[in-house]
Amino acid sequence: MSTLPATSQHAVVTIPTLSARAVLPWLAFAGLLMLVAMYFISAEQGATSLLSGTAVHEWVHDGRHLLGFPCH
Ligand SMILES: [Zn+2]
Repeated sequence: MSTLPATSQHAVVTIPTLSARAVLPWLAFAGLLMLVAMYFISAEQGATSLLSGTAVHEWVHDGRHLLGFPCH
C-alpha cells in the first residue's frame, strides 16, 4: 500500500552532459585562482612582496610550512 501518487513512483532522472568546450573556461578560471592562491601561500611577503607589512605572511604561515616552502 503506497501513499505516493502513481506518477512519482517511476521518476525519470536525466543527467546533463557537459562538453569540454563548456568546461574549459571554468577550468582555466579555477587554475588561475589556484595560481594566485599558491603565489600568496608560497612567495608573498617572503621571496617577493606586492603588499607591505606581514599580514599575508602571518595568515598563510602554517600553510607555507605545511607545503614545504622556504620561510625562515
Ligand atoms: Zn615560517
